Amino acid sequence: MQWRAAGESIALVPTMGNLHAGHISLMQMAKQHATHIVASIFVNPLQFGPTEDFARYPRTETADSEKLTAAGVEALFLPSVDELLPHGLTDTTFVEVPALSYQLCGQFRPGHFRGVTTIVSKLLNCVQPNVVIFGEKDWQQLCCIRTMIQDLHLPTELLGGTTIRETDGLALSSRNQYLSATDRARAPLLYQVLQQIKSCLKAGDRCYHDLTATADATLKSSGFEPQYISICQAETLLPADTADHDLVILAAAYLGTTRLIDNIHCIL
Ligand code: AMP
Repeated sequence: MQWRAAGESIALVPTMGNLHAGHISLMQMAKQHATHIVASIFVNPLQFGPTEDFARYPRTETADSEKLTAAGVEALFLPSVDELLPHGLTDTTFVEVPALSYQLCGQFRPGHFRGVTTIVSKLLNCVQPNVVIFGEKDWQQLCCIRTMIQDLHLPTELLGGTTIRETDGLALSSRNQYLSATDRARAPLLYQVLQQIKSCLKAGDRCYHDLTATADATLKSSGFEPQYISICQAETLLPADTADHDLVILAAAYLGTTRLIDNIHCIL
């Protein structure tokens, strides 16, 4: 690639498309760290379970491409499934970070993180960026990719972008559009219970079990079906101990048929 030959730096921002202001914030961040930005759009079949929303995942490439141009992104990498997975979904070589892939979301989405790390390693090899940017919105994904890059000695720096939210606190997500009007009005409660836990932690409450149990009950009483609410060590994602200071509070919950995830980083 000409840019690399000229010694100019490249930042890659991988996405699954249906771009919103959260994605665009990562493109802006990329501009601060590299001369050229490459965005990728690939709806990754390996990271969807058999009953998940792969087929109905919103594909809006024309609108996405216009948003990327407006954001100053010079190159869009749009690989096909056949290009990235020439031997199909099961006969590919996999890349997995076992220590971070089976807990939290991994418990409810078997194979999800293996699918993510496999495809991200391919994207990194195809584009060979100096910097790759992912959102903190998907905290466990960020942890898996950080460890994959370290363990495989990949020559790419990883940066995490802060989560962009609606004014009522709901984290922007391509899946928010699946919510009914009633559920959309309820959805900010997920972030509110995480904030409540953070406030209690900051005030010195270390009864992690009680804090998450209260949040779980609050969500259930408002029509959510929580999958987990956990207080973990921010990098290892091991359950937090009372001596730990660098924490993340993570949650996943269904609201109707829509699965929402969110998290808050909490340094004590
Ligand atoms: P996706 O298209 O959902 O795979 O997301 C592509 C990238 O955007 C991932 O690194 C996500 O973590 C990130 N992202 C998704 N939602 C947000 C948000 N609300 N704020 C910032 N980054 C986000």
